Amino acid sequence: MGIGEMEYGSMVFNDKVMKEVLPPDVYGSLRMVIEGCDQMDIGLANQVADAMKEWAISKGATHFTHWFQPLTGITAEKHDSFIEKAEGGDVIAVFSGKELIKGEPDASSFPSGGLRSTFEARGYTDWDPASYAFIKGKVLYIPTAFCSYSGEALDKKTPLLRSLDALSKQSVRVLRLFGNTEVKHVKANAGAEQEYFLVDKDLYDERPDLIFSGRTLFGNKPPKGQEMDDHYFGAIKPRVQAYMDELNEELWKLGILAKTEHNEVAPAQHELACIYEEAGIACDHNQLVMELMQTIALKHHFVCLLAEKPFAGVNGSGKHNNWSIETDTGVNLLSPGDTPYENAQFLLFLSAVIKAVDDYQDLLRFSVAFAGNDHRLGANEAPPAVISIFLGDELTAILEAIEKDKPYNAAEKKIMKLGVDSLPSFARDMTDRNRTSPFAYTGNKFEFRMPGSSQSIADANTMINSAVADTLRKFADTLEEASDFDAALHELIKTTITEHKRIIFNGNGYEDAWIKEAEKRGLLNLKTTPDSIPVLLYEKNKKMLTGLGIFSESELKSRYEICLENYIKTVCIEAESMLYMTRKLIMPAAAEYLDYIADTLVTKEKALVGLEMKYETMLLDKLSKDLGGMAELSEAIEKDLKLKDGLSELDCAMFVKNRLIPEMSELRSYADEAELYIPDSMMPYPDYSKLLFSER
Ligand code: ADP
Ligand code: MG
Repeated sequence: MGIGEMEYGSMVFNDKVMKEVLPPDVYGSLRMVIEGCDQMDIGLANQVADAMKEWAISKGATHFTHWFQPLTGITAEKHDSFIEKAEGGDVIAVFSGKELIKGEPDASSFPSGGLRSTFEARGYTDWDPASYAFIKGKVLYIPTAFCSYSGEALDKKTPLLRSLDALSKQSVRVLRLFGNTEVKHVKANAGAEQEYFLVDKDLYDERPDLIFSGRTLFGNKPPKGQEMDDHYFGAIKPRVQAYMDELNEELWKLGILAKTEHNEVAPAQHELACIYEEAGIACDHNQLVMELMQTIALKHHFVCLLAEKPFAGVNGSGKHNNWSIETDTGVNLLSPGDTPYENAQFLLFLSAVIKAVDDYQDLLRFSVAFAGNDHRLGANEAPPAVISIFLGDELTAILEAIEKDKPYNAAEKKIMKLGVDSLPSFARDMTDRNRTSPFAYTGNKFEFRMPGSSQSIADANTMINSAVADTLRKFADTLEEASDFDAALHELIKTTITEHKRIIFNGNGYEDAWIKEAEKRGLLNLKTTPDSIPVLLYEKNKKMLTGLGIFSESELKSRYEICLENYIKTVCIEAESMLYMTRKLIMPAAAEYLDYIADTLVTKEKALVGLEMKYETMLLDKLSKDLGGMAELSEAIEKDLKLKDGLSELDCAMFVKNRLIPEMSELRSYADEAELYIPDSMMPYPDYSKLLFSER
């Protein structure tokens, strides 16, 4: 299919379709609801539902589902057919407004962190009209928010939508102070760059670690990894290209603008970036991207690995979240303008982001805390666990000039007055020269580079939006009180820079020197997931998040528990998978080879007296040490897996981190050493060389 015949958005009940199939007054009312200016009523819902059903059936749909994003991090759906019994034994297609706007799934099988009492298992899904319904297969998907019977959010989407509202409200307040009376709504945009690996399906099927944990738990770096830098942007192999083509087509049909695709740094690693959209929709769409990546891979006899660190020794996968704020009149508030007025406004929003990221470093770190991501952050392939902002030298110098009342440029000798002077011209670098920064300004947006490849972007965007909304709220409070707006603005920006410049770092984030420097600056370094989760319940964070209405206290508590649970379960499944593979596959293979060597040694010794047998003796020694090590650590891990059950959640997570994970890596080192010597013909599963070079 060429671009000309591309059926872009053909499977989406989007604005164009709505306009076509709804009577003008119904369309008008629905738009008011979508824009958040009006409430949905049942009469309107009935009319929309009917039109949606007719459209869906005309496209071959037989079922519908409320589609939601529970705290598992993936999506959930339950299909119902449109079919109802009619009089006289006939069947008719029915889809009511009530079915469109509300669903009642059984919530008992989704994580709730204690929010859902067992006697009230019911949960609700509420239609999110801002995200268009779409058809996948024969099913009409209706994007929804998911909450408990008593109204607490049980999903990732609800807090994101609340944070978008908060950000809009506070941004509009600030814009009014600049005399803007036009803007009604401000949105956050997000563009996700998704990294992934492809491995051959047959090879995947032979690796229990990939099957159970989504990543390898054993294996040595192949003789050739990423050191030649020959994969990044390299020519795409035909089978991979066919996969990418089909993926693009399916995404386009769903109105998802897959744009940039290329090979990534590691062998078998790729990236797909979609064009940015309003953050709520971008979040839905990224979930669909991840899902389609996986289902379409199977058609090409690949398995798509979304895990953050599928292979030790080569780069893992992340997901860069590009974020900006834009008015409903189309102005990007993070883009420097041309007039003094626009510049002052830009600098205020920029300062708000700087303060927000500094004040809520912990929450941003929390938003990417996930067992899989612990392998990337700080491992010289992704940003460190320390949050900082990259602004570029020139913008930093401008801020410094404002802070110190100094001229920006010595030749000019003129001190800049906000609201009166234009920003000195500086090279606006729209690309990112610095790839090591966790939060980089790239000319008109910030690129948050910490999220893991498998994570929903909901949490990251919820925390960025909330932190910035909170800061804008404080700014608006101050400025609304001011008698001289320009002077107050200048002062506010100055003090913000003075107080928060420690978060700005333009150097190489991968260097140890930076970690030391960051510590001196008092920046947080929350290295692992269990270190990061407790921050969610810190008083200042609770106050901010509940104050803006993003989370209730009980929702925060429940998320805290779910995150800990998720960490513990993820690592324990990996530990169990390691035990399984060690005992059933690796030790038997190593023992068999050991036996074989021992046999030859004995026979040869008998037959050929006087030979040195150096290699055989060394092998015997190594393999028996490795077997001993594996046996001992398997026992220890098994014991600790039982021991952990008696611990409270936070203690258990710490136990897993401090005890289980080191044991697992020790077990791995013995197994990996044995793997180096076990001959190919005796290997119980395909090694890294095969997995990473299977894309043909
Ligand atoms: P790079 O690899 O240099 O980071 P890419 O082109 O791969 O850049 O990805 C850039 C991402 O940023 C894309 O998803 C793009 O749509 C998104 N993006 C561009 N402009 C904005 C913006 N104003 N707000 C949010 N995201 C944006
Ligand atoms: Mg990027």
